[in-house]
Amino acid sequence: MKAKRRFTPRVSPELILDRLEAAYGFEGWSPRMTALDELLFTVLTQHTSDSNAEIAFTAMRERYPTWGVVVEADTTELANTIRSGGLANQKAPRLQAILLEILQRRGEFEIEFLGGLPLEEARKWLTSLPGVGPKTAAVTLAFSLGMPAMPVDTHIYRIGKRIGLIGMKTSVDDAHVIMERQVPEERVYAYHVQLIAHGRQTCKAIRPLCDRCALQDVCASASAFAVAFKKPKYKRPTRSGKPL
Ligand code: SF4
Repeated sequence: MKAKRRFTPRVSPELILDRLEAAYGFEGWSPRMTALDELLFTVLTQHTSDSNAEIAFTAMRERYPTWGVVVEADTTELANTIRSGGLANQKAPRLQAILLEILQRRGEFEIEFLGGLPLEEARKWLTSLPGVGPKTAAVTLAFSLGMPAMPVDTHIYRIGKRIGLIGMKTSVDDAHVIMERQVPEERVYAYHVQLIAHGRQTCKAIRPLCDRCALQDVCASASAFAVAFKKPKYKRPTRSGKPL
């Protein structure tokens, strides 16, 4: 089926971003690790928390001195080393396959060159690696290389639908491309960071805190949540015990 990569948001994405920046603040972008480290770390974060992935990544770096040693390691041993990151039996061969593919394509364990490519070309290169999807590619490009890619995680996907930035039927893969084009390139990273902060602190999955939300007056779901979470009126009991 043809991807639906266009959607007219119900509210200005830049207005949303301005409001969220005012609410949560923004420290700007700085690289947190090399592009290859970011890519492999992001694979480890799949279906687990960042803290579990960090423990697994650190254990892997401590046990294997180079990426070449990781490729040649016994896969079961590697799986045991990264066990704390979850799904280790799937992630271990995936990490080895990615590293081997990079070595075969580039002749070295290094992917910083992606920062010099147009965004779409860099994304295509990454997503053609085994087990690398749009989110993993976008995290690598945005966080390590400062490129205007928009990783869409569960928080952003949920909030995007609630506010009306994407459609209720927009797929996660399409959301990456749609949301990435909603703000100027230089603000895409901030857009990602602010929506994550909003999902963690206010627009929570189970019970969003709409009454203290900076977007309440522009959010497409605010009135629906207000009705759903409306407290029942207190009814004074009568002597018979039945409410009046
Ligand atoms: S008003 Fe409620 S549903 Fe809308 S963004 Fe804010 S917290 Fe989320």
